[in-house]
Amino acid sequence: MTEPNHLRQATRCVWGGRTEPDPHGATVAPVYHGVTFNYDDLDEWQAVGSGERPGHIYSRNTNPTVEIFERVMRDLDGAEASTSFATGMAAISNTLFTFLSPGSRVVSIKDSYGGTNKLFVEFLPRFGVEVVLCETHDHEQIEREAAKGCDVLYLETPTNPTLKVLDIRRLAEAGRRGGATVVVDNTFATPINQRPLELGAHLVLHSATKFLGGHSDAMGGIVSGDAERIRSLYHFREINGASLDPMSAYLLTRGLRTLELRVSRQNESAQAIAEWLAAQPQVEAVYYPGLAGHPNHAVAKAQMSGFGGVVSFSLAGGMPALRAVVPALRLAHRAASLGSVGTLAGPPAMTSHVELSAHERAAAGIPESLVRYSVGIEDPADLIADLEAAFAHIPQNIPA
Ligand SMILES: *Cc1c(COP(=O)(O)O)cnc(C)c1O
Repeated sequence: MTEPNHLRQATRCVWGGRTEPDPHGATVAPVYHGVTFNYDDLDEWQAVGSGERPGHIYSRNTNPTVEIFERVMRDLDGAEASTSFATGMAAISNTLFTFLSPGSRVVSIKDSYGGTNKLFVEFLPRFGVEVVLCETHDHEQIEREAAKGCDVLYLETPTNPTLKVLDIRRLAEAGRRGGATVVVDNTFATPINQRPLELGAHLVLHSATKFLGGHSDAMGGIVSGDAERIRSLYHFREINGASLDPMSAYLLTRGLRTLELRVSRQNESAQAIAEWLAAQPQVEAVYYPGLAGHPNHAVAKAQMSGFGGVVSFSLAGGMPALRAVVPALRLAHRAASLGSVGTLAGPPAMTSHVELSAHERAAAGIPESLVRYSVGIEDPADLIADLEAAFAHIPQNIPA
């Protein structure tokens, strides 16, 4: 069954990915753990192997359970095709290595995810790729660098962990004019809140480990876009071998069934928590695109249908306050990652940007006292009460 285009996102989450009826009438597709697929008919085997007929040969290339996950994401992203990966970083590195070669030029931002930044500063230059990292807030600089000609314009919005927002439509246009494949890391927004392909990007990618799976129990990555680019990317991945495991694909698809429900709740709760935090004297600054005072609130409002489940804040009392508050939280895992049903809290220095030195974090504008708070699906009143109780642990004698 192909997915009718008129369905809304919540419905696509539930019904997306359906293929032929199950032989037993099962309403949930099974997990195909089988690595290899049998063909009694050699002609059919050859037709499938050469791509003339649909089917599966070997699970590093394609697998029926993995394909269901890819179909749901293809429909949610509004794309012609999607291909999946073992992790979000596999999706990112395979994308960059597919569309860049020695002598290529990539333009991106300083605030990309820590692992992505490592690809830009450590690995790509070793392969003779010119990397230009612009000031994240400086749209003019990104446009200028794209206009000089680039092969990939790599964007991420909202950014991790300070929730900066880039104008996708404006920058995608600049990237296209410069001849680039325009890529957007949409992990923080999810296809519920933002659909970059409709705003002019060629490819959208996600760490499925975060909101898409939503339960912190499976890793994966996904890239969606036009059929030709996804075919090239798939070809690199099948040889590179960074394939998604069927069990993880099953868990991620199961997670996707409730994506719209979870993200709607997380949008609402994060907004309430951000507004509450902004009114607390212990809080130095709140980073959330849903706040009217956010520098890119207007752009966020125009291109997003919700502002997401991650709120970052810094504490007036600096590191001593952070050291008092974070351990005192009762309703948050102090752990890396984000986008789970349970609230997660952690300083970027220990989570998303642990790969960077303190100096590199400072250069990226990440205060050491920043707390990245990924709101779960708990009752927001309980989360606010928990934050309030934790703030009471801040020592009174530290200068604000
Ligand atoms: C977590 C994350 C990644 C990397 O995903 P993994 O699944 O951990 O490899 C990439 N981009 C962003 C924005 C992320 O939050």
